Amino acid sequence: MLHVDVMDGHFVPNISIGVPVVESLRRSTDLFLDCHLMISNPDAYVGAFVEAGAQNVTIHQEATDHLHRSLRLIRDSGARAGVALNPATPVETLEHVLDLVDLVLVMSVNPGFGGQKFLPLALGKLEQLAELRESLGLDFKIQVDGGVALDTISDISRAGCDIFVAGSSIFGTPDPAKAVESLKERAEAARAIHV
Ligand code: ZN
Repeated sequence: MLHVDVMDGHFVPNISIGVPVVESLRRSTDLFLDCHLMISNPDAYVGAFVEAGAQNVTIHQEATDHLHRSLRLIRDSGARAGVALNPATPVETLEHVLDLVDLVLVMSVNPGFGGQKFLPLALGKLEQLAELRESLGLDFKIQVDGGVALDTISDISRAGCDIFVAGSSIFGTPDPAKAVESLKERAEAARAIHV
């Protein structure tokens, strides 16, 4: 899938791309479009991103005062709903909305810029989410974003991550396709040993 990082210069200290780029991507690829909204007041923009072609929309727990309502709005708009946690936000804040999400995104860097180093505190959150999912009988996916690279992906995979977001460790290499294969191999090997 393509993971699209949308930044507004307000919720995070950087501005990236918005609805027109998602529309262009939709016209250019059949890949699943996973939009990660690092923006304030996400409710006002969810509809526009879904209309532009987003199939999953992830909003931040910290960006809305009414998380329950915001997540329902995403599903009502016709997309899968994701919720993201900044490094300082505990998993417990999601307790009452886990049945409303298709995806939980654990930020393993502070959002805003690519190329940052992986924060190991994310590993405990992944384990916690995997246990909660099992005990509650839910089936949301667990995703990690930030610092995913060859030297971190084994630990991330073992901790229970399903979807790995990688930017610099793919697009910063001379052969992006090969970089994806190497990352996948490592993630799968770590999971196989774990099981
Ligand atoms: Zn992201």
